[in-house]
Amino acid sequence: MTSFNGYLLEANLIGGEWTGAAEGGTIDVTNPATGAVLGTVPNCGAGETEAAIAAAKAAFPAWSRSDLMMRVGLLQKLHDALMDNQEALAQLLTAEQGKPLFEARGEIAIGAAYIRWFAEEIRRKKGEIVPAPQAGRRLLVTHHPVGVVGAITPWNFPSSMLARKLGPALAAGCTVVAKPATVTPYSALAWGKLCEDVGFPAGVLNIVTGSARAIGGAIMDSPDVRKVTFTGSTEVGKTLIRQSADTVKKVSMELGGNAPFIVFDDADIDAAIEGAMIAKYRNMGQTCVCTNRFYVQAGVHDEFVAKLTAATKAMKVGDGTEDGVMQGPMIDAGAVAKVEELVADATAKGGSIATGGARHALGGTYYQPTVITGATQDMQFAKDEIFGPLSAVFKFDTEEGAMAAANDTEFGLAAYAYTRDLGRIFRLNEQLEYGLIGINAGLITTVEAPFGGVKESGMGKEGGTQGLDDYLVSKYTCLAGLD
Ligand code: ADP
Repeated sequence: MTSFNGYLLEANLIGGEWTGAAEGGTIDVTNPATGAVLGTVPNCGAGETEAAIAAAKAAFPAWSRSDLMMRVGLLQKLHDALMDNQEALAQLLTAEQGKPLFEARGEIAIGAAYIRWFAEEIRRKKGEIVPAPQAGRRLLVTHHPVGVVGAITPWNFPSSMLARKLGPALAAGCTVVAKPATVTPYSALAWGKLCEDVGFPAGVLNIVTGSARAIGGAIMDSPDVRKVTFTGSTEVGKTLIRQSADTVKKVSMELGGNAPFIVFDDADIDAAIEGAMIAKYRNMGQTCVCTNRFYVQAGVHDEFVAKLTAATKAMKVGDGTEDGVMQGPMIDAGAVAKVEELVADATAKGGSIATGGARHALGGTYYQPTVITGATQDMQFAKDEIFGPLSAVFKFDTEEGAMAAANDTEFGLAAYAYTRDLGRIFRLNEQLEYGLIGINAGLITTVEAPFGGVKESGMGKEGGTQGLDDYLVSKYTCLAGLD
């Protein structure tokens, strides 16, 4: 499997050619589980990005006017190629990113599912003929691809985040310039080869690796890029939104989160623990929908903490390719340092460590899955995204208090709550300021539903019927003088 079925590509895809950097040389890509170098990728900058944008622009007229069923057929083939190579692509993903193999297999499968979903959705994207106020006029509303799309993706889901963007973009008839995260470029480059193998025309998908600032800058500066879709930190997202102003681009932003997970006295605690484990520790806590703050009502607090601590301790930590491993390495030294800082801050302010609280004996970027109790709103993790395997447990008394604490953040991506009270469930639906809400469920992302945040967690949706709209512009055409 070391060849990853030929999907480890060390070149960029620009206008149908696999190329290197003109002058930037290469960047090493390492396996976070071992520190070993997996290979290199080109260190490209503005020049190569401009070439990629030019290729996408050149490919746009034919692609955007191609037969719908041709695009649908290619997307279906792309779905099948992903699933035919699921194991190799999952191995590649784990090698560059560190997540356990079972999660990587799941990520390839959901990426494929996004492609299939948008191949289906585009066939039902109907326009309208609106009743006109005067006789002799017909008012048409039609949908059209937005144009060349810039797609900037993060390291935590290097394959499926691209799938959510490529699926609707390619289905709609857009062409794409993609920039993957520098530490996890191979899963994205594999998409380039898959698209090439199944027959997408040259220039429809272009992939550039290298300097984020230079590549991002070239994408943002170009008047030819009509939309930018970004998944990553709120800080970078804000920069991109500012940069988008000069050319008035359409933007979709999937930014940071600070997910509350509220457990009420009437909850099924075993179900809450099951949901908590997946909502907290998936990808070593490095997802934007990972629980950041557990709020547990006083009546069930001790039972919840005891069970969460036991389940957290029981997780096997190690190289994601090993059998039974639930927690791999964190992405890099900075990520570990951030968790260490949050733990030190919490313990200095009176938090207690129920388990973990230190680096793992395996060394490298492994950190012990950790539970801290006695969490309070003045602790740093009440405000900051943890992005690590650290459970912070706050105790609460009233629904009102829990709801206020849950909303006390500038973020608004995912929230979870465990309760059987239907009235309360509607209050949570109405009052939680979040774009995604899981009631008695800790894993809710699915291709059929719109994923996206409110407040500083972003704008725009991925998945669902809404996920296509971000890649389309509507036109109103008034027909007169034909009677
Ligand atoms: P994360 O915390 O997930 O690493 P980042 O926002 O730093 O989030 O990175 C997400 C993506 O944005 C990566 O592909 C990264 O290279 C890219 N990126 C970082 N800084 C910039 C920038 N100034 N302009 C454009 N893209 C950027």
